[in-house]
Amino acid sequence: MPSPSKSRALSKSPAKSKKTASNGNGHAKAIKVSAKTAIVKTALKKAVVKSGILNRVADVLAPAKGAKDGKLGKAGKRTYFFGDGKADGTKEMKNLLGGKGANLAEMANIGLPVPPGFTITTDVCTEFYANGKKLPKELDGDVRASIARMEKAVGAKFGDVTNPLLVSVRSGARASMPGMMDTILNLGLNDRTAAGLAAKSGNERFAYDSYRRFIAMYGDVVLGLKPEKKEDHDPFDEILDKKKKALGVKLDSDLPADALKELVKEFKAEIKARLGVEFPEDPYAQLQGAIKAVFQSWQNDRANLYRRLNNIPAEWGTAVNVQAMVFGNKGEDSATGVCFTRDPASGENMFYGEFLVNAQGEDVVAGIRTPQKIEALGKILPEAYKQLLEIRKKLEKHYKDMQDIEFTVENKKLYMLQCRNGKRTGFAGVRIAVEMVDEKLIPKEEALRRVEPEALNQLLRPVFLPAAKKAAVAEGRLLAKGLPAGPGAATGKVVFFADEAEALAAKGETNLILCRHETSPEDIRGMNASLGFMTAFGGMTSHAALVARQMGKVCIVGCDALSFDYHARVMHVTTDKGVITVKEGDWISIDGFAGEVINGRVDTTPSEVIRVLIEKNLDPKEAPVYQTYNKLMTWADAARKLRVRANADQPDQAEASVAFGAEGIGLCRTEHMFFGEGKIGPMREMIVAENEADRRAALDKLLPLQREDFAGIFRAMKGRPVTIRTLDPPLHEFLPHDEAGVRELAKATGRTVEQVHARIDELKESNPMLGHRGCRLGITYPEITEMQARAILEAAVEVAKEGITVYPEIMIPLVGIKKELDLQADVVRKTADAVFKAAGKKVGYTIGTMIEVPRAAMTAGEIVESADFFSFGTNDLTQTTYGLSRDDVPRVLAAYLQHEVYPGDPFVSIDRNGVGGLMKMAVAAGRAKKPKLKLGICGEHGGDPSSVEFCHEIGLDYVSCSPYRLPIARLAAAQAALKAS
Ligand code: ADP
Ligand code: MG
Ligand code: MG
Repeated sequence: MPSPSKSRALSKSPAKSKKTASNGNGHAKAIKVSAKTAIVKTALKKAVVKSGILNRVADVLAPAKGAKDGKLGKAGKRTYFFGDGKADGTKEMKNLLGGKGANLAEMANIGLPVPPGFTITTDVCTEFYANGKKLPKELDGDVRASIARMEKAVGAKFGDVTNPLLVSVRSGARASMPGMMDTILNLGLNDRTAAGLAAKSGNERFAYDSYRRFIAMYGDVVLGLKPEKKEDHDPFDEILDKKKKALGVKLDSDLPADALKELVKEFKAEIKARLGVEFPEDPYAQLQGAIKAVFQSWQNDRANLYRRLNNIPAEWGTAVNVQAMVFGNKGEDSATGVCFTRDPASGENMFYGEFLVNAQGEDVVAGIRTPQKIEALGKILPEAYKQLLEIRKKLEKHYKDMQDIEFTVENKKLYMLQCRNGKRTGFAGVRIAVEMVDEKLIPKEEALRRVEPEALNQLLRPVFLPAAKKAAVAEGRLLAKGLPAGPGAATGKVVFFADEAEALAAKGETNLILCRHETSPEDIRGMNASLGFMTAFGGMTSHAALVARQMGKVCIVGCDALSFDYHARVMHVTTDKGVITVKEGDWISIDGFAGEVINGRVDTTPSEVIRVLIEKNLDPKEAPVYQTYNKLMTWADAARKLRVRANADQPDQAEASVAFGAEGIGLCRTEHMFFGEGKIGPMREMIVAENEADRRAALDKLLPLQREDFAGIFRAMKGRPVTIRTLDPPLHEFLPHDEAGVRELAKATGRTVEQVHARIDELKESNPMLGHRGCRLGITYPEITEMQARAILEAAVEVAKEGITVYPEIMIPLVGIKKELDLQADVVRKTADAVFKAAGKKVGYTIGTMIEVPRAAMTAGEIVESADFFSFGTNDLTQTTYGLSRDDVPRVLAAYLQHEVYPGDPFVSIDRNGVGGLMKMAVAAGRAKKPKLKLGICGEHGGDPSSVEFCHEIGLDYVSCSPYRLPIARLAAAQAALKAS
């Protein structure tokens, strides 16, 4: 099998340098950054806090020193040295040195064995782009001086024929962007130095193995020799494959020195033939080319996309690390590996890693051979393993977070090549944070800051229905087993190419499983578009596994029973019953907990958290995932100032909301009830009625039905406040859409079919979104509001009589003028008086309004005189502020994001300047007249972490969101409070 290495899979022509919008208020980078942003401010305040993490994160997010005005960092220093137990830089200097450079420096400083090297700062990257992609003149001198220092430290000379120093040239941005940019290893080799290296090491195989790797990487990254079509493999891999076939060997590491020498020639010839250039022999020319290429890789397609997905500004730039090579490919006492200080999928506190003997760094990640589990290193290289275990402990103590580390063993000696905070699944994120508190490594507040609110989604995600999975296995549908790299269960249609997954998803296909031999960074769009993915090759640290953890996708890797025929668009699965062929479009199911691949569909079932909280069929004591979730939520509730409510329209939703921590209902949409059993008929009768008497007759039928729903909700909420909105959507939405419905309605109302059609036509509006809806309906037909008020208050009285406290808050939608609210409030009050009189019992209630059209925000100071509360309906407020309907936003969104007109979808995260500006006005005007005015938000934004943070900032009392987003809102609210304190 050809095995394109990740560093070679990549960039087409580097995209043009683009300025990324960093919109003035700094709020633009919506969702993902918010949590981190929360950490920053606090961290900056407590600048003296010893916790490394706080400072480190602060460093990641603070603007690069001098990057904007083109000035250089400290005294114009362009290169920072590290090695020999000390370094110019520290881990706090991520902005300038990038994450990799800062951590290499830090590891050197704390006495870990790091091969010496130097970091070229991110400022130089900025200079490079400012100068039209030219390296600054002065850099050459700095580089030569730093190389001289490395030569001294290593005891070898760059370009020397008898004792050559080889280097790696590694990218490294502030935020880790694994695999997105380019790295070149073994630089400094040419025909003469390779011969020298062979002689010096007495290991010809090693020397030429290094050389052929260098040519392939350099040929790809610097010279740009790539595969031409997606079905093609990497050109160097094709040659390598042919060689292996010709010699009948399976693994790269089985190729003898002579074969490797031939490969060197063949690679160079391929470069000459395809690109018309000679491979550069001069080491300094090689180095310059590599440095430039790494800077350019900052702007390659996949790095640009990754930055967009992760809200990393383009102007940050990357640093370049030039580091003395150490060799894991020197023989059986050499190795290279990748580890996590805890399991990145489950979060379990165990050393988790993989390595390959006689291999070089990229091999493990790219899945050239299936790596061994890290424990095995204890047998093969016990000294190095022991040292690695100590380093694991030391690093966690030092960084106070789970670390992702890269190491190499050269002739039994261990070297550290990288460490960084490890990417993890949502499961692992929650578990690690909670357990680190229990281990007294970090305080609770830090645990709260650290978990991405969105990650909590994963804990609610379905798993396979145990019975369904058992049945599938019994039917012999278990196809294969791989490594469980991304927890969850996914069932979907097989797709083999990332770009096709992306195209299918764009057409609305949501159930896709991307199946590949391996994935490379250029596949991330397609991976994002799929429910889950699986690969034949690669381990838990492979690209696919890493991306899965980050995106929260279901994922299986290293499933070596799979083999792919991309041309025929099939995969073959070797099972004990023979080979089974799965075609593109066939259904397949993957279990990301167990690593199992099942043919066909398998039904799913709710997660542990759902089973404990909602279905109540699992004992919390037997639910460890639930327990960690619950701990974190308890801490979050103690930390937050914002209250959380749910948008819930039915009693069962209300119950679920309470289970997820709702302290009330912020939005009960009465119209959703009308679609329930037996309600749509009378509703339609009400709409087609031509006079008030007929209308009231129909409303009388609806009254008991609505009353029952409200009573159910009040009971479920057990004394918590419930905000109920009166009828909002335009009436024609309730009318029948088909002939049968029309006939039925005609029969029920004693009309002809033609008459009903005529009425339907009459009700059609040219722009229903901006039409006869909200309070406008209630003003046209006050009897509708009256019926609803009656249903709400009669239910309230009924439930209050049962001894349950009720707090109805009646909310009038779409108000833009105080008089609108007055008219509707008047109907409600009169009805209330009548209800209380008849029942001989009063309940407290309030009347408020939604602020969801700009005019309401502008005149909030007037409207507040008639309102007990405001609730920001940010869906409509966004629509009406932008003059863009929510349903039509997809048409413009792609282009608007691409051109950076919008920093993100304004319907996902509140536009703080525009919509948020209106909210601030309304808050100020409302509270000026009524300092205790209750304020909330009930748009979809109420469950979006960045928007929750904004609501905290502007002083709202609560956010309201859909029940399943409540955990996210609770954590986001805690983070907002921690940030502000
Ligand atoms: P990425 O950012 O994609 O992880 P790296 O710069 O970490 O890229 O390089 C990839 C791999 O190359 C590393 O995992 C490491 O094993 C190997 N490597 C990098 N520099 C050296 C070096 N100086 N000596 C030996 N191996 C190296
Ligand atoms: Mg790395
Ligand atoms: Mg609305």
